[in-house]
Amino acid sequence: MIDGKRALVTGSTSGIGLGVATALAEAGADVMLNGLGDAAEIEAARAHLAERTGRTVLFNGADMTDPEQIAAMVADAQDRLGGLDILVNNAGIQHVAPVEEFPVAKWDAIIAINLSAAFHCIRTALPVMKQAGFGRIVNIASAHALVASPYKSAYVAAKHGLAGLTKTVALEVAEDNITVNAICPGYVLTPLVEGQIPDTAKARNMTEEQVKRDVLLAAQPSKEFVKTDQIGALAVFLATPAASAITGAMLPMDGGWTAK
Ligand code: NAD
Repeated sequence: MIDGKRALVTGSTSGIGLGVATALAEAGADVMLNGLGDAAEIEAARAHLAERTGRTVLFNGADMTDPEQIAAMVADAQDRLGGLDILVNNAGIQHVAPVEEFPVAKWDAIIAINLSAAFHCIRTALPVMKQAGFGRIVNIASAHALVASPYKSAYVAAKHGLAGLTKTVALEVAEDNITVNAICPGYVLTPLVEGQIPDTAKARNMTEEQVKRDVLLAAQPSKEFVKTDQIGALAVFLATPAASAITGAMLPMDGGWTAK
């Protein structure tokens, strides 16, 4: 269904991004990976995905806090993939602290990586998508784009901002055969979530096991973590012709969390 499409997935050296990039390559897309991490491990993951799927899999290590590096990465994707049909804005970080103690540098980094990076990718990718007459933009938002939780002021603000960006751009390109949607996952057991468990435990005066059971999965009526391949499957669907009428949508995949 998406054979030969060319995709860029930010923050795809780990977790959800890697799951989405894997699903896209398995569905027939050529993919550019992006993210931080150990160079040898990234190269091994890139080569493994390319070998397993038979698709072109590239890597660009642009830092999502740097607008110039982001623009250069989008140009690199268009150049080396031969075009850009699918953009998945996924890179993200988290920090958990009461708002009055929230480190200013963490606030700035979360807004830059979780929100502004999507703006920079979109603004640089859209001219090529418009010229090609096709584009699929998928923003990995969060249940926290729809509802809040305490101690996550920067993350919730960035994700609500990403929801606004998704809807606004969807309206701007609605007649250009370009769709812009957001997937809003509940909790997925990735390094990002594992990393916030100790801080949440500290902020709430709980054990780490209590945080998993009573904070994380307490929000999710299914009592199951969402899986990265499930998010990948939805991203693939959004890139297919069957999804061409879905745009400006916030799509929860959260085990019922935001139904409450
Ligand atoms: P993760 O920590 O496993 O992956 C984050 C990715 O972003 C990594 O590839 C990392 O290298 C990359 N990244 C971080 N800072 C970067 C930077 N400055 N430049 C380039 N890349 C950078 O986290 P994850 O859980 O897979 O999160 C991916 C996205 O999904 C995030 O936007 C997150 O907010 C969102 N999300 C996660 C969950 C969850 O429960 N894990 C739930 C909802 C939404």
